[in-house]
Amino acid sequence: MIIVMNPHAPQASIDRVVREIEKMGAGAHLSKGQFRTVIGAVGEEGKIDEAHLASLDGVEKVVPIMKPYKLASREFHEDDSVMEIGGGGAGKTPKVKIGGKHAACIAGPCAVESEEMLNKIARHVRDGGATILRGGAFKPRTSPYSFQGHGETALKWMRACGDELGMPICTEVMDTRQVELIEKYTDSFQIGARNMQNFDLLREVGKTRKPVLLKRGLAATVKDWLLSAEYVLSQGNRSVILCERGIKTFEDSIRYTMDITSIPVVQQWSHLPIIVDPSHAAGKRDFVAALALAGMAAGAHGIIVEVHYCPSEAQCDGPQALLPEAFKEMMTQLRAIAAVHKREFADAGEAVGA
Ligand code: PEP
Ligand code: MN
Repeated sequence: MIIVMNPHAPQASIDRVVREIEKMGAGAHLSKGQFRTVIGAVGEEGKIDEAHLASLDGVEKVVPIMKPYKLASREFHEDDSVMEIGGGGAGKTPKVKIGGKHAACIAGPCAVESEEMLNKIARHVRDGGATILRGGAFKPRTSPYSFQGHGETALKWMRACGDELGMPICTEVMDTRQVELIEKYTDSFQIGARNMQNFDLLREVGKTRKPVLLKRGLAATVKDWLLSAEYVLSQGNRSVILCERGIKTFEDSIRYTMDITSIPVVQQWSHLPIIVDPSHAAGKRDFVAALALAGMAAGAHGIIVEVHYCPSEAQCDGPQALLPEAFKEMMTQLRAIAAVHKREFADAGEAVGA
């Protein structure tokens, strides 16, 4: 249910509506537009008394949200949401915007293998145009015998490197028990494809105030995916960025099939930013740039991509890692495609203390 307030309704009327919603045992979520405030009343079905809310001072109308996801829907928030990653909190980096006219590139290694390799790759991706640094400290691996990541040590390296280069960081959280630890170091959480429907984990990151990069599950529909975003939003964390990373289909010439259509579909149904991950979709570096370009052409707000200066030595996802030169070249092409949508990739942040 959304409660649309009159233009310039006084704060007292807004507060009263919020109190009444909370009395009904539902959550009140405010969306402040240029002229008016819209309040999302979200809770178990049947609990919300629509007629009572419609009768309150300052209320223009009460409209049911027809979509199963509420806070993620365009009905709740008409304009594109712009999320900000970094800028204080755990580290000392500038803020990077994603959404609306702001495109961003998140790049780095799949897994953080050593401090030296991280620092080297981070410099390459920053010089090539990335503004956010990625790197896995805890890795979801198909085999329990594969490299699982360096855990907290890798988080420390990530933090130090991000601060030195002025790049906010993004790293994967796999389990509710890791949220507190990772939150201390990171600027944003990545929820991997395999955890898209780990509802406890979604709620837990929803209780933090760090942006959440929510990857699409390997076999999830766009609706499932937006309902997962809703889990995060319903806990009060308003910052979710969706990431299309390919789904399972019968096609086996590539690792996954990047569902280009999901980009305009998400943008019609939701106000949340959406980026693409061409690396995991392709599985092979030869196809990464084409998928990244296709994603941006379809309207994505940016990319997350894996880069390595020596992919044959990578402990994880080497075959899909771009070499630094290829990454740089791809970024030049991506800027041109983004311009078609009047979107701009931010310049690399000023190194703090450099
Ligand atoms: C990753 O980003 O390294 C990763 C494991 O991604 P996904 O969850 O999309 O497979
Ligand atoms: Mn990877």
